[in-house]
Amino acid sequence: MTTTILDGKHTAELARNALLSPIAQLTRNGHTPGLAVVLVGDDPASRVYVNSKVKACEQLGIFSQKWTLPSDTTQIELLELIHKLNEDPAIHGILVQSPPPPHIDEAEVIRHINPDKDVDGFHPVNVAKLTLEDPSGFVPCTPLGCMELLKTYGIPTAGKHAVVLGRSMIVGKPMASLLVSKAANATVTIAHSRTQNLAEICRNADILIAAVGKPELVKADFIKPGAVVIDVGINRVEDASAPRGYRLVGDVDFSAVQPLCSAITPVPGGVGPMTIAMLMANTVKACRQISGR
Ligand code: NAD
Repeated sequence: MTTTILDGKHTAELARNALLSPIAQLTRNGHTPGLAVVLVGDDPASRVYVNSKVKACEQLGIFSQKWTLPSDTTQIELLELIHKLNEDPAIHGILVQSPPPPHIDEAEVIRHINPDKDVDGFHPVNVAKLTLEDPSGFVPCTPLGCMELLKTYGIPTAGKHAVVLGRSMIVGKPMASLLVSKAANATVTIAHSRTQNLAEICRNADILIAAVGKPELVKADFIKPGAVVIDVGINRVEDASAPRGYRLVGDVDFSAVQPLCSAITPVPGGVGPMTIAMLMANTVKACRQISGR
């Protein structure tokens, strides 16, 4: 079977290019989109993510602010900054890089972000809007990126059986909501750590989305021939031969699964680049909605 490799780098570039004209128009009208990225502590992986978000803004002409706060920042200090950003007319999107240090109550911080500026789509108002299929809401960037990949490659979802592995608020649950929505019309099964007969359930999937965080969990016997496989997982596995001593693998055993499916995302270079492109899209949408009032 010929397998289409769903190229996230290229698709993300297309999505970013589509934002150039709306950004230019908003800017001409005096509303340059603005994103504030808040990092608490010095987690190296978080710093890399934050820097790539800021860089993506710079490349598109989106104004960005990076707030790097020490790891002993208190909950109150962080909430004060969030309130300040909520009031700042130059800022349309606010995100607090996850995970914050353990003494920070992340859920409470998210509740303090103005939902109109919640470009990560984690605020309860936006979670509700996704369920209600209210298009003014913000959808979490990673599942939004998965949908954009399917759309760009013309992969139909209506009437298909989609199995989502994982039930997190960041990926699994919003992914399932998007697939079951009236825009996508898939029939959705959500599987998780307590699901029994996982391989058997996955073998019934026309579209399989893996968002588990377990390296190469999905093997050849999970795959219905011709299925579309979207691998969200990003896992570090030790590899003495790699320059940094580790390499990145997804939740899918790519070499075993690829020959069986009609389309599959690689890791890296699949869903990862889409996430940042969708963050940019959400920031432009927030600016458009706020400035249009
Ligand atoms: P999470 O830990 O919050 O959730 C993992 C989910 O997997 C849970 O719902 C759990 O029930 C389920 N699970 C665990 N073990 C399982 C098993 N054996 N079988 C079936 N289900 C099982 O993780 P998350 O934040 O949803 O992230 C999942 C993966 O996606 C991670 O590897 C993460 O790094 C990656 N991720 C990638 C991007 C991206 O931009 N590509 C963004 C977010 C997360």
